[in-house]
This record gives sequence, structure tokens and C-alpha cells, in this order.
Amino acid sequence: PCSGLAVKCGKVEEVETQEEGCVRKPTPMFDYHGIDQDLIQEMVYDSLVWSSLHGLVVGDKSAQRSGKVPGVGLVHAPFALLPVPFPESHWTQACELAPIFSELVDRVSLDGKFLQDSLSRTKKADSFTSRLLDIHSKMLEINKKEEIRLGLHRSDYMLDEQTKLLLQIELNTISSSFPGLSCLVNELQRSLLNQHGEDLGLDPKRIPSNSAVSHFVEAFAKAWNEYNNPRAVVMFVVQAEERNMYDQHWLSAVLNERYPFCSQQRLNFLNFITHITLKLFGKHWQKLMQKENFYRMEHFSCMGGKAIAIVYFRAGYAPNDYPSESEWRARLLMEQSSAIKCPSISYHLAGTKKIQQELAKPNVLERFLDNKEDIAKLRECFAGLWSLDDSDIVEKAIEKPELFVMKPQREGGGNNIYGVDVRETLQRLQKEGTDGNAAYILMQRIFPTVFPTFLMRDGICHKDHAISELGIYGAYLRNKDKVIMNDQCGFLMRTKISSSDEGGVAAGFAVLDSIYLT
Ligand code: ADP
Ligand code: MG
Ligand code: MG
Repeated sequence: PCSGLAVKCGKVEEVETQEEGCVRKPTPMFDYHGIDQDLIQEMVYDSLVWSSLHGLVVGDKSAQRSGKVPGVGLVHAPFALLPVPFPESHWTQACELAPIFSELVDRVSLDGKFLQDSLSRTKKADSFTSRLLDIHSKMLEINKKEEIRLGLHRSDYMLDEQTKLLLQIELNTISSSFPGLSCLVNELQRSLLNQHGEDLGLDPKRIPSNSAVSHFVEAFAKAWNEYNNPRAVVMFVVQAEERNMYDQHWLSAVLNERYPFCSQQRLNFLNFITHITLKLFGKHWQKLMQKENFYRMEHFSCMGGKAIAIVYFRAGYAPNDYPSESEWRARLLMEQSSAIKCPSISYHLAGTKKIQQELAKPNVLERFLDNKEDIAKLRECFAGLWSLDDSDIVEKAIEKPELFVMKPQREGGGNNIYGVDVRETLQRLQKEGTDGNAAYILMQRIFPTVFPTFLMRDGICHKDHAISELGIYGAYLRNKDKVIMNDQCGFLMRTKISSSDEGGVAAGFAVLDSIYLT
């Protein structure tokens, strides 16, 4: 054997290779760590150039203004060099589930009592969920009906190695991220395989195409059309500082290009309050908001006096998005308005982890769906989910915490509890004996297959062992009884080193990836 080089944690190390005479020859499929080193270096360089030229970028943490000013302090988004091998049958299964989950969310959203009852104990233990529920109650009180309903969801799965089951991690109904960048990673990996596929023994056609951006903007345009006001705009509600802004700008840009008649506004909650509410109603807006019929206001006006057709939330899912009462007022005002909310407060609540756990209980799906086959398909992908009221499970989790994940009602990654912390938290909650345990659910920990990968971050290639999580986007649009759109629309693969518990890309735990069907 001759000697070759391997890139590990940014350093180049010398390793032994099996290739005689160092002649580049096709490597067996998926022996990613056995790939010729020169080839890797070439792909690393090409992929970094590709990302820069094609907008596969995020704001760079180390650049102070990168989350505020577009075009300042850009860095390539973290990505995997080569796609993850994934069985075609499980891929098809995940795609088929998307429209069923979207329909389920829609049905659940109409059952205000189910949402309130299921979350009633959580409300006492979790002040953030409590505020969301207050908005929801207000809408129930005034009997607010959302006739046009738009959902842009992402259902996430892991493939459990031992049972070979595709199991749902969670369903995101608010701010489902990466429709833009996931399409780019998909194209990047295909472009690398077009160039180097023969040497790698990989066929670029086995990477399924990703249509998330196209479908999301199509959903916006169709929803805008249903709203039926040619002067109305699509409003993106974003965080004041957002390093993942380019993912959002991809949606804006493509919407603009394909549907130029849908004009857009990009605002955060505070802009919204100052520029819209005060301008519109002067000092009297608070009084006006208290009036019962406020929501009947035909046009929810934006800066420049244009009506808002769609409020698209890429913020508002986390407590940090509401630093003061102003943001909560803005959220309430949006909910009261006649604009199409993506998501409405009901859709938002339907995507909480507590509701996921309630839906997994026996005979609950049957309340919302009629089709038995659909119900069976959903149930097949449910992992073990429990409330902390279940004392047997709590005992089991204390005994074997490594088999469980403990989840609060939060989004955005980095909030879950793993391993010995599960035991400690459960024991602490037991001692306290208050309502604190209603803030969490327990979930069976899923163990996906570990495989070798090349992770790209900050221009450095890390060779490591990793696991992946597949997200399938779903777009749902309905006007009264007419379902206008209910499609599976693209996917997001995220890959993280196998030793890491959490998986968020924005949170810095994972990289964007794509799949190679096997
Ligand atoms: P969030 O809404 O914050 O994204 P998730 O439920 O998706 O919350 O959990 C965050 C991450 O934690 C996931 O992306 C996944 O990597 C990991 N995770 C969550 N649930 C499980 C589970 N049951 N088994 C293994 N890993 C999990
Ligand atoms: Mg989530
Ligand atoms: Mg998640």
C-alpha cells in the first residue's frame, strides 16, 4: 500500500491507502473515507467556489453586521460534500406522508377545544405556550374563522437502524427553515457528481431533485390570488438579526421573479408595530384593538397603505422573538386581521411537541382523519411519545435515560435534554412535585445508522462519522371547502456528527446535505 492524505478536523494527516500504485480508480460506493485524497481536495475547492457563486451562504458569526446587512460578512452555509445514502422505499414513504400530515394539521387546527384542552396543563408550566394559547382563546371568543389557510410545513424523520423504521422526529408548522438553501445543496452535490461521479462510482441521477423553493413560492402566489386584492403584499416577518437571511431571500427573490405582481415587505415585529400600527391608527390604535369587531377590518394595511395578503412568519416561534409586550401585541394584531397567516395561531399550536404526543395516543388520529390507510401510514412513523404523567415511563427513563429524549415546547434546536440530564431533570421534577413536568414530553430516542461523511464548515473539511435527519416539506392551501394545494414539495437532509445530540444547522450542530437513493 502507498501512503495518502486524509483531512481531519482541518488538518491533513498521513494515512495508509489500499490503492496500489496510487492510480485513481472507481471507489466502491459509499466508502466515502476511502476516496482518493487529491479528489477530495479538488471537490472541497470546487464546492466552496460553487457555494460562493450560487448563494449557498449565511451570515458569518464573526462579522458583526452579517445578520443585519445583506452582502456583508458572508460565509458558505455548512454542508456535506457528498449525499447521504438513503433507501428509496423510505424516501417514497416520507414523501407520501407529507400531504397526510398537512391535512391532519388542518383538521386539528379547526378543533379549538382539542388544542386548548391538550395544552391546558402545559399552559401552567410554560409561559411562552401560555401566551400563544391566550391569543388562540381570544380568536375562539370572537369566533374568528380563517377561510383561506396556508401551511408551509416540514416533517422531520430519522431512520432507526435497528428496526429499519422511518420515525418522525417532529412536525414544524412555523418558520420551517431551509427551503432555499436545501435546494442549493442539492444542486451543489449533483454538480460535484456530474463532474466526479465516475471516479466516485456514483450516479448523479440518484440524487432526487428538490423543488422546495418553487413550491413554496407557488403556494404564496396561489394564496395571494385567493386573497384577491391586486394591491396586497406578502409580508415576511423576520428576526431583527438573522444570519440565515439568504435562505429567506431566496424565497423573496424567486417569488419576485416568477410572480412579479406579488409585491413583498420584509419586517420584524418591532418595525411592524412602529410603522404600521401607529401610522395607521395614531394614538388610538390600542383602543381600536380592544373593539370586538376590529378583526373585521377588511384590509390589514402595511407601510404605504397597501393591504397585507399573507403574513409569513420566519420569526415568532421562540420566546426571544417577543422581548416586550409590543411584539405580543403585533402577533395578536396579525392574528385578528383578515390577512392569511402562515401559520395561523391554530396551525402554530398544532405543531407543538405536546400536540404531537397527544396525537400519538390511541384513537386520537381517528378523531381527525377518516381514511384508515392514511391513519395507518401516520401511525407507522410515530415513535414512542409520552406525557410525564405516565409514571412507569418516567421510572424507565430514570433507569435508562440514554433511551429517551426529553423535550420542552420549543423550536429552533438546542432545547432538548439527553442522557444523564434526563435522569437529573426527571428526579428534580419529581422532588418539586409541581406542575413543572407538564412543560415537557418524553420521546423514544432514535438511533440512525452512522456513516462516514465529509462536513464543510468555514472552508474546512472535517472527516467524521455522522447521522442524518430527513425533512420533507409540505405546502397546503385551502379556501373554505376547496383544497387548492396539498403537495409534498422538496426536502432537507441534515447531517451531524454522531456524537452530537442536537441537530440544528442554524444552531451550529449540523450541516445541510442531500440524499443518494439506494
Ligand atoms: P426543534 O423543534 O428544536 O428542532 P426537535 O424535536 O427537532 O426540536 O429536536 C432537535 C434535534 O434533536 C433534532 O433535529 C434531532 O437531531 C434531535 N432529536 C430530537 N428528537 C430525537 C429523538 N427522538 N431521537 C434522537 N434524536 C432526536
Ligand atoms: Mg421544530
Ligand atoms: Mg427540529
